Amino acid sequence: MQTFKDADFQKEIFRAITDMGFEVPTPIQKKTIPHLLSSDEDIIALAQTGTGKTAAFGLPIIEMIEPDDNYPQAIVLCPTRELCIQIAKDFESFTKYLPNIHVTAIYGGASIDPQIKALRRGTHIVVGTPGRVNDVLRRNALQIDKIRWLVLDEADEMLNMGFKDELDSILEMAPKKRQTLLFSATMPSDIQSIANNYMNNPVELTAGKKNAGAENVSHFYYVVQAKNRYLALKRIADINPNIYGIVFCRTRQETKDIANSLIEDSYSADALHGDLSQAQREQVMHRFRQKHIQLLVATDVAARGIDVSDISHIINYNLPDENEIYLHRSGRTGRAGKTGISISIIHTRETSRVRQIEKILDKKMVQLPVPNGKEICEKQLFNVIDKIETIKVDEASIAPFLPDIYSKLEWLDRDQLIKHVVSVEFSRFLEYYKNAPDLNASAKDADFRSSSAEGDGMFQKYFINIGARDNLTKVTFLDLFNKKAKLKEVKVGKVEILQNFSFFMADRRYEKQLLEAFRSLEFNGAKIVVEPKTNSASTSGSGRRGSSSGYDRRGSSLGSDRKGPASGYERRTSSSGSDRRGSSSGSERKGSGYDRDKKSDRGGYSSRRPR
Ligand code: AMP
Repeated sequence: MQTFKDADFQKEIFRAITDMGFEVPTPIQKKTIPHLLSSDEDIIALAQTGTGKTAAFGLPIIEMIEPDDNYPQAIVLCPTRELCIQIAKDFESFTKYLPNIHVTAIYGGASIDPQIKALRRGTHIVVGTPGRVNDVLRRNALQIDKIRWLVLDEADEMLNMGFKDELDSILEMAPKKRQTLLFSATMPSDIQSIANNYMNNPVELTAGKKNAGAENVSHFYYVVQAKNRYLALKRIADINPNIYGIVFCRTRQETKDIANSLIEDSYSADALHGDLSQAQREQVMHRFRQKHIQLLVATDVAARGIDVSDISHIINYNLPDENEIYLHRSGRTGRAGKTGISISIIHTRETSRVRQIEKILDKKMVQLPVPNGKEICEKQLFNVIDKIETIKVDEASIAPFLPDIYSKLEWLDRDQLIKHVVSVEFSRFLEYYKNAPDLNASAKDADFRSSSAEGDGMFQKYFINIGARDNLTKVTFLDLFNKKAKLKEVKVGKVEILQNFSFFMADRRYEKQLLEAFRSLEFNGAKIVVEPKTNSASTSGSGRRGSSSGYDRRGSSLGSDRKGPASGYERRTSSSGSDRRGSSSGSERKGSGYDRDKKSDRGGYSSRRPR
């Protein structure tokens, strides 16, 4: 099958998909549609979300449904409420000109009564999540004894989510004489056992390689020290001013923290995680779909079933624990023929994970340098210029103010005026990135013994206010560390004894214990001061004893990468009387200023401020 015409669908279906803009069948559709129309053999199809698999199974089923037989003839099982609603919507679009075919969605997290009523009214196609389908089966509100097609959509996700028992019980209840269609992005062994137990000599259809990631997704990674992840994330957002993406985090807490930091730093972001109520979750998703939020920070579980077709970037704030999850994450971009980018922020010890993921993807993940301040400023500058060029001018509203504006700006010639206008936006980035540090971790950072870098994933570098002048040597230091401070179980890395003070690396997990242990210690009559050393602190020029505050001030410059410009920015925006952008994310959260933001920004995104 090369075109939809070759499938010879009823004209109503053809008209509906033409309305939807489907011109050429996707690879999985080319394989699945002719098979389903001509054979009752079971199929296992390896297909990611976004490959057009809903139409691949949906269109032939609709073609073959008997509208006069008023009972469920097809059941589609899928992992999440969102996906369930999405599939039902797609089916409704496909049956737009076939009003006698009825589709019903049943899913958890919503009242069961209206769903039961809808089933009782009579339906031909049921789309449901396994838990809720079991519920309605137990209540006799749904009969599946006459179904002809049973579809398991995102079967791997259903198993990941623990629906094995529910699936078993539904598959047991379904009539033996049926066609079972299993769609899955990956093929773990438990899918194979479903196939063995419940399917009849299934034919395997693959569009693309087994377990392969979406074809049109490019994979990149940045190597940074673990503590610089957040700064790297901000640079990714800043170098992509029109980013529309999902940032995946490992835990709910991390999701909340990262989203809050982004919001505080005036990025257009929000969090999606399991602690949200259904209503809050829907609100966040609505705002993301409407593009009122540029960065959705989410856990893997919360992001399941999100079906947004034009996501530009997937950002792995951390690599997932399991390599296959990476496939699911990156499969959320590059959908429906569009290109997508998946970026991972990794630390030096994770490069072997990259090689493993490359094997599953059968594609190279390309290491990129973390963008530097100059590159970001250039990108932002041209973004400002683009906006100035394309912004829609509301002539009528602006007209009354123009005479005053012209007279106020009269003294500026054209060139100066351009520079001033552009600088309104651009100066913030220039200032913020003026002394921004290089975030790229070099390969040698991985080896603490040969590294002078400030710790990595495992080690933290510490300053100690005693040195050779106090007769400190490596041996006496280790004695002090192991015996006096009683920190024998804490791994120590490189020790640098300088004249007036010293540095040492130690396992960062024990930081609290370590600082506590040194707090009350003395060395040759001198009180010991130990402090964690942050990234940009200079090793020279720190004072001798009591240098703690001076040292700290220098050391905090990285922290100011994140927080410093914030107040400056607020001052600047309020003094210029413009709070349109600066307040965007904050006010978005509170629900005010959000519409204003949207309307005022032609691109549909609220712009961000570096803070
Ligand atoms: P799915 O994988 O079913 O979630 O589909 C992903 C997106 O691709 C949906 O927005 C579909 O409407 C769209 N789509 C599916 N098939 C085609 C096609 N042949 N041409 C254009 N878009 C399609």
